Amino acid sequence: AAAPLGHSVIPIVNKLQDIFAQLGSQSTIELPQVAVVGSQSSGKSSVLEALVGRDFLPRGSDICTRRPLVLQLLQTKRKPDGMEEEYGEFLHLPGKRFYDFSEIRREIQAETEREAGANKGVSDKQIRLKIFSPNVLDITLVDLPGITKVPVGDQPSDIEARIRTMIMSYIRTPSCLILAVTPANSDLANSDALQIAGNADPDGHRTIGIITKLDIMDRGTDARNLLLGKVIPLRLGYVGVINRSQEDIMLNRSIKDAIAAEEKFFRSRPVYNGLADRCGVPQLAKKLNQILVQHIKAVLPGLKSRISSALVSIAKEHASYGEITESKAGQGALLLNILSKYSEAFSSMVEGKNEEMSTS
Ligand code: GDP
Ligand code: MG
Repeated sequence: AAAPLGHSVIPIVNKLQDIFAQLGSQSTIELPQVAVVGSQSSGKSSVLEALVGRDFLPRGSDICTRRPLVLQLLQTKRKPDGMEEEYGEFLHLPGKRFYDFSEIRREIQAETEREAGANKGVSDKQIRLKIFSPNVLDITLVDLPGITKVPVGDQPSDIEARIRTMIMSYIRTPSCLILAVTPANSDLANSDALQIAGNADPDGHRTIGIITKLDIMDRGTDARNLLLGKVIPLRLGYVGVINRSQEDIMLNRSIKDAIAAEEKFFRSRPVYNGLADRCGVPQLAKKLNQILVQHIKAVLPGLKSRISSALVSIAKEHASYGEITESKAGQGALLLNILSKYSEAFSSMVEGKNEEMSTS
């Protein structure tokens, strides 16, 4: 299955991790978490699922996501026979491997009910799911309950405040990338997503605007000005996407078909001409990849200096013993060299030809 998110970044991160592993260094590249925020039914779970490229999240027109789902993607080695083994494992069911992704969805639903009841209750207790696959980047995605205003079912009267507090506890972290999801058939100026993202990230350094449901806008309207940032500017800009509709979900339409349909939608509408870089899930994945690359680039100097100072202290230690141990220091120097070369190559990749970072 295609995993659009992070695909092009995987080889780079792998190489760097290999380098660190050689030094026996604890220094690894920690990628930022990615969290989705927005109103209920804006399409948050749908966007995350499309980014992962697998069907496994509860989605629907009612409140589906009622507990935070912390989804850790973990890269596994491809098996020698080339078979792709992908499976999920929940923290609350250690050792049980889920190879069937629709079973993962059922377990998320069941576990949601165990904690939050069957009647629309919401809980801030996490569900933690790991997905092991050779096709993913080691990254953590967080699916969050949507903002609702009017309590229904078992929800307490202060449901809105509670959900906002829960969302803020995730997106307040300065390293968290925020996907702020607003449906195109609602008013952007009233967007809960942009409002809460703006509270957590006032400068907009880590907020990407996502406009969903472009396919069901009012006749005669389009999202061109939204995507261009002319309605509400956003530093990192907007991407418009089309997820599967409730009917598509009922008909079990695949992600692959949905992405093909999305591509056709944008291609056949002249109003989106010239906005190709702001339209579609693959573009969103590409944008995220570029941000991850920038992040890696930004943390490399810190990693390099950590290695350097580790080397200095090793050298001092050896000097105090009055003995010369070539191996470790030599290894470290070699490593620094590789790393420097690597970060140069990396910089030219980022600044020069961004095309190489594209997803395919
Ligand atoms: P969440 O509550 O924000 O996680 O939203 P979901 O991902 O569960 O989606 C809510 C409902 O909106 C589901 O019935 C989806 O099928 C539907 N939906 C989401 N995105 C789109 C879209 O881009 N177009 C259409 N037509 N329906 C969508
Ligand atoms: Mg959801």
